[in-house]
This record gives sequence, C-alpha cells and structure tokens, in this order.
Amino acid sequence: MTKPTTAELQAMDAAHYLHPFTDHKDLGARGTRIIARASGVHLWDSDGNRILDGMAGLWCVNIGYGRTELAEAAYRQMLELPYANSFFQCTNSPAVQLASAIAEQAPAHMNHVFFTGSGSEANDTVLRMVRRYWDLQGQPEKKTVIGRINGYHGSTVAGASLGGMAAMHEQGDLPIPGIVHIAQPYWYGEGGDMSEQEFGLWAARQLEEKILQVGTDKVAAFIAEPIQGAGGVIIPPSTYWPEIKRIVDKYGILLVVDEVICGFGRTGEWFGSQHFDLQPDLMPIAKGMTSGYLPMGGVIVGSRVADCLIDNGGEFFHGYTYSGHPVAAAVGLENLRILREEKIIDYARNEAAPYLQQKIAGLAEHPLVGEVRGMGMLGAFELVGNKATRERFPGKGAAGTLCRDMCILNGLVMRAVGDTMIMSPPLVIQPEEIDELFDKAWRSLNMAAKQLR
Ligand SMILES: *Cc1c(COP(=O)(O)O)cnc(C)c1O
Repeated sequence: MTKPTTAELQAMDAAHYLHPFTDHKDLGARGTRIIARASGVHLWDSDGNRILDGMAGLWCVNIGYGRTELAEAAYRQMLELPYANSFFQCTNSPAVQLASAIAEQAPAHMNHVFFTGSGSEANDTVLRMVRRYWDLQGQPEKKTVIGRINGYHGSTVAGASLGGMAAMHEQGDLPIPGIVHIAQPYWYGEGGDMSEQEFGLWAARQLEEKILQVGTDKVAAFIAEPIQGAGGVIIPPSTYWPEIKRIVDKYGILLVVDEVICGFGRTGEWFGSQHFDLQPDLMPIAKGMTSGYLPMGGVIVGSRVADCLIDNGGEFFHGYTYSGHPVAAAVGLENLRILREEKIIDYARNEAAPYLQQKIAGLAEHPLVGEVRGMGMLGAFELVGNKATRERFPGKGAAGTLCRDMCILNGLVMRAVGDTMIMSPPLVIQPEEIDELFDKAWRSLNMAAKQLR
C-alpha cells in the first residue's frame, strides 16, 4: 500500500473528517497540518517540519513521545487479553493493578477508582455518583452541583454543563437543570481594584452565597479544577482554596477536584490536590494517566462516597463498555511505573519546573506581555495593548491567534485562549529544550508585535 501524500490526506480530511472544536469553513481555507510522528518532546509534520510540543499534546503526554515500553505493554496485553468487561462479577489483572497503584499515589483517604474512557466521561460519572451518594444518604433533594464560569470539565452534556464555557452552553442549550455556576478566581482579568488576596477570598465566598441562594438542603457538591487549564492556566490566589475548604466543610457538600490536567505530575506533585492540601471526595482523572498513549479516564473515590456506595448495597446502574479496558490499563500501569522508577515528577518539581518558571517570568519584559504566571509544568502569559491599563488588543482573541500562528511558523506548539498564551510541555523536557521553547516563543512574540503595531 502506498502512503497517501500530504495533499491527498488534506483532501480526504476536508471531505470526510469532522474535527473537534473546529470551524470547518476556516479550516478548509487553510488546510490541515498532518502530524506524522513524534519523539521525546518533538513532533514532525508530513512536510518534515520539526515542532517542539509545548502543550504535551493536549496536556497529556507527560512522559514524552516514543516510549517503546508503553507500546510493548499494549502489544503484550492485546495478544493475551485484548478486551474484557468488569460487569457481571468479572475483573481483569491490569485494571485491578492500575486501581491499586493509583490508590497508592492518591491522598490517603482515597482508595477506590472507577474507570472511564475519557475525562468527559469521568465527569459524567461524577454527576451520577454525586446524586447516587445523596440518594443513599436519604437526601435525594440534594441534587445541585455548583461549578465555575470558565471552568472546563469536558465536552459531553454533563461535562459541558459542569464546565462554565459560555460558548459551549449557548450551542448546547446547557447547562442541564441542577447545575449552577459561580465566578472564577481570575484576578488579572476580573480582580478590579481588589488586591490578589482580597479577590481570592471574594471569589471563594461566591460559593457560600450560591449555597445560601440555592438552599443548603439542595446543594450536593462543588466542582473545580485545582488550576484552570483550558480556561487559560488560571492559578487561584493563595487565599482561595483555604476559604473554599472552609465553606465546603461548613455545609457538608461533596468536593470534586477535577485532576484531569493537574493529575500525574503536572504541578510537580502527583495531584494538584496535594499541592493545595485539598481533601477531595472525588477526583476525575484522564490525560496524564496514560500519558495519552491510549484513551482512558477515571474517578478516584474517597472513603466518604466509596463506603456509602459499598455499605448500602444495591446496584449503581452506571458503567461503560470500556470501563477498566485491559489494554488501556496495561498502558496506564506502565506509564505509572515509568513515572515512579524514573522519578519523573521529582525531576519536574526540582529541575524542569524551576527553570521553566524562571523563563516564563523573563517574558514579562516583552512589550506585548501584560502578565506572566505559572506553576509546576504549567505556564501562561497574557498579551495586552497597554501594560499599565491591561487594555487588550481589539478583535477578541485575534492577537492570541496571531501569536499562536507565529509559534507554529517558528516550530513551536503553544495554545491561545483568547489573548492568553498557554504552555504545558512534557514533564521530561530537558533544560536545552526549554531554551529552545523560549527562543522560539520570543521570536514569535517579536513577529506578532510587528504585525500588531
Ligand atoms: C480535558 C479535560 C477534561 C475532558 O477530558 P476529555 O478526555 O477530553 O474528555 C475534563 N476536565 C479537565 C480539567 C480537562 O482539562
């Protein structure tokens, strides 16, 4: 079989392939970029261009590309047992071992895992599990989940409803009933005259106001990302999480911490919850769980909910054909082994992240950059027309899109959320590759600046 050429692939793509989160009319005019192969932190497209992947795919390829051990784990498992379900009193060895390995890394009170196929499915499971929990507690009227504006919890009906993306809500007639939202802790964009610390408290107290407004007897849970990822790498002020914890405890609602991005080392800890000293009841996970080599997600369940589900008996009518898929689990297990044995999270925390953060801080000197922020292996900087007034460029996100396009021209993948540029490279990125990332970022910013002025 001869390999299709780039032009042939582009034509077939336009004719048959509907992409996620894409304006197809616009895409048709530009033509798609075909990613052909990858190794370490680099991608190659079908024209042979070498591109540094500053996003680790979509925040997922934590151990980097090209790890043959994961391919071999999948191959071995496919030959031995390519599929098995965990319904009907059955289980399989990779899923059992992965659940137990994840429980070992999770906060001490979290010892059970429910497997899904993705992060969105994990949040569908969250909604089902939260409501099942309160039913079993004899409080079925506790149904409402509080999320945050500009939070991201996936793209299914439940995931998009729990999330607070206005554009998704508009198209989907969402959120579904029983899900409401409060302000996000986005100080640079929305803090007004408040100090960062004051604003953190204000944003957290929106939760208490919402609980009182909906009714303390009706609120089931609060869901949030430790650091908002898709919303633009928004790191809450240090006053935020302690106050959220106080409110969640005061009203006894469940705390759901969406670890789909922060989990498996992204912040320099195994979980973002450990970074912020949180005690979640449920933690949705995906992405770094398999380093993206195969699709898999899950929900790590704390003792409060797990004990209730188990002790009360009765079937929870929920699960997926691919829950605990043996091949995905075998890959997840191998990914965990590599993270542990090669001490990749220690490397990220102690070596890669301090250097990455120093480089991000340096971008503040660029005339286009209004704010820089970052934590662990996450980083962001905001493009502004006027640094003093924080005034944006006209054209809602046009500056970000331009900068992103300049990055690709210079061989770098960075994403733009509006006019916020974000990065999330593989945890294994080496210092000289971080240098390459920022050389390309500076060059791209300079090119963007020329066009914007
Ligand atoms: C990506 C993401 C999801 C959705 O995961 P999918 O695998 O794309 O369904 C959910 N929550 C967060 C925080 C995410 O970043």
